[in-house]
Parts: sequence; structure tokens; C-alpha cells
Amino acid sequence: MTSPVQAGPSLSGGGPTPSLTEHELHVLNLIALGHTHEQIAQQLFMTPKGVTPTVNRALRKLGANNAPHAVFLAVQAGLLDPRRRHGDHAGFAAHRYRGEEPCEACWEGERAYRRERRAARRAAKSAAA
Ligand SMILES: [Zn+2]
Repeated sequence: MTSPVQAGPSLSGGGPTPSLTEHELHVLNLIALGHTHEQIAQQLFMTPKGVTPTVNRALRKLGANNAPHAVFLAVQAGLLDPRRRHGDHAGFAAHRYRGEEPCEACWEGERAYRRERRAARRAAKSAAA
């Protein structure tokens, strides 16, 4: 160890792009957004216990040591866009804009959004009447 600055393993990337499932990426994206395992479980309709194996699978595929490292590597590999939101109307619209089928979390957020809009319209109508 002569070099004073040692980059950690796999920080430079350059290997083949790991193939993560849509689900694994989604979990990583929620981790990147600061969600706890419990919140992730709620959003993706899983049990909190089910989140851990998914995270571990993603870590293995990415060669990451922990979740933040996995997020970093996934962003670096272009697999993850931390600026992209999921789970609400904007996320739903972004999927549609890209010609994708919206993910479960975004569908759920969109349904809630539409319910709210309907309720607001009804409230406005009854206020006018
Ligand atoms: Zn989504």
C-alpha cells in the first residue's frame, strides 16, 4: 500500500453493465430517495422482510458492499436516475412520456391523484350549487 489515495473496489466501474430487474431497480431508486425498508415495502406492496433479499440481490449483481454503494454504482452504470421520481402523478406521466408501462408504485400514485382530483371537483360543484 504505497499510494496514499486508494479508490475503493469497483469505484471506477468499467465492467459489463449488470442486469437488474425492474423491481430491483425500483427498490434501489426508493433507497436513493431515502425511503426506509418499511416505506419501500408499503409502496411496492411487499412485506418489509421481502425488501431485504431484493436489496441483497441487487448488491450482489452490482458488486456493491452496501446499499449506498449500490445506489452509486447503479447511477454510474446508467441504470438509475435519482432525479426521476416514482409513486406519484409526475412519475406516472414520466413513464408515459417515455412510452413505458407505468410501474406499480406510479399506478398507485396516479390512482390516488385521480381520486383526489375527482373529490376536489365534486367539492367544487357542491360548493357552487
Ligand atoms: Zn414508476
